[in-house]
Amino acid sequence: MSTYDYDLFVIGVGSGGTRAARMAASTGARVAAAESSWLGGTCVNVGCVPKKLLVYGSHFSEDVEDAKAYGWDLKIEGFDWSRLIENKNTEIARLNGVYRRLLDNAGVELFETHAEIIDRHTVQVGDRTITTDKLLIATGGWPTMPDLPGIEHAVSSNEVFYLESFPKRFVVVGGGYIALEFAGIMKGMGAEVTQIYRGEQILRGFDGDVRETVASEVRKKGIDLRTGVNIWEIEKHDGTLLAKLTDGTEIVADCIMYATGRHPRIDGFGLEKLGLEITKQGAIKVDDYSRTSLDNVWAIGDVTHRMALTPVAIHEAMAFYRTEFLGDPTPVDHADIPSAVFSQPPVGSVGLTEEQAREAHGELDIYRSTFTPMKHTLTGRDEKTLMKIIVDQKSQKVVGVHMVGPDAGEIIQGIAIAVKMGATKQDFDRTIGIHPTAAEEFVTMRETAA
Ligand code: FAD
Repeated sequence: MSTYDYDLFVIGVGSGGTRAARMAASTGARVAAAESSWLGGTCVNVGCVPKKLLVYGSHFSEDVEDAKAYGWDLKIEGFDWSRLIENKNTEIARLNGVYRRLLDNAGVELFETHAEIIDRHTVQVGDRTITTDKLLIATGGWPTMPDLPGIEHAVSSNEVFYLESFPKRFVVVGGGYIALEFAGIMKGMGAEVTQIYRGEQILRGFDGDVRETVASEVRKKGIDLRTGVNIWEIEKHDGTLLAKLTDGTEIVADCIMYATGRHPRIDGFGLEKLGLEITKQGAIKVDDYSRTSLDNVWAIGDVTHRMALTPVAIHEAMAFYRTEFLGDPTPVDHADIPSAVFSQPPVGSVGLTEEQAREAHGELDIYRSTFTPMKHTLTGRDEKTLMKIIVDQKSQKVVGVHMVGPDAGEIIQGIAIAVKMGATKQDFDRTIGIHPTAAEEFVTMRETAA
């Protein structure tokens, strides 16, 4: 038995830290963890979970409109933001309790306070100085706010989940998935929405067809998406905000949200004392096993800036646990990670974009299909679904699959298994479709796109 107080100390019990702590404890190891604010971390409190609940909440306005074509006469009597936020908060409190019990039942000693690193084997939590054999840093990320006059009047994704009143005029700055999701949420709930992005096209890093389709679809829904422009100053007058744009225009708003990226949380807890290697993006540098430049210190999740998604943080936690607590060296596998954007319509993606695939494989076969979702044949809603399969011409392996349309995340999760297994286009072709679904299009596309 080691002479340290604990075999493992975990800083931060978000998606990654919770999984690592409880799995390590399940082997009989003596594990402690610290959490300074939110049990369950970003995902549970100000990320995936509340965001998806708000997305559900925002859909009802369209659903009620669409119901008419199906024979229903429904009337919207109003929308109560406070009720939705209260219900969402109750659910989050329940999840916080679930996380506490998970750690407790696994035998993890939890310190609900800020942890400060003293040295590679010592951590300060409140008035206790604790020693540990291994140290795992899972402190996550934090929204990046630009430095401009009046930025103190804007909110980030942390605050937007707790707005006291519904912002009837909502401005969101950013072109990434969080900005798009909030533009759709607020629009669905009845706000006038402007989305501002300084780049040429939203969703950088996604497939080009996906980016174009989403931009066109959200504009059709009435989101005023402005690209190639930015806010240079924000003024506040009697509770109303005025955004001044670089193109000389101005927008009056009740709320301005910045979703202009997130950075790894490496400051404010003594990390510098360890002298760890830090990457250009300001993240803790780790190897394939999530080990830092010190051999008893590991880091997982958003603080390592590999791929900032909850299932990835959990996967990294599992690889760490297998490597260090089961004696089964398991490198992290970041290939073919599927992801979704809960924009309206949503996006699902796995594997390479067409642009990446051209670089990696050269000649490609591209299969692309654009159609109106069956539901809207009656409603007449002008909405298009895009499906795209990218195939390496030589091997016929499917190297990327992308979709914009209802249930894209649900559909791509299943497709991702096939892609991960190395399926070829012929494997897709010999799979029988489920009729009538949108997903069957993925096994019936035969003509390559020009
Ligand atoms: P976190 O979950 O952020 O946990 C880190 C924890 O460490 C925090 O609870 C923090 O309080 C604690 N901490 C930090 N410093 C200390 C300290 N010194 N002492 C004690 N505790 C400390 N991902 C998806 O997969 N799907 C989505 O749909 C999705 N939507 C998102 C929407 C939004 C608005 C945001 C912001 C993120 C979203 N994400 C989504 C990303 C996802 O939330 C993160 O990738 C994930 O939470 C990262 O987990 P983590 O364990 O690295 O860190």
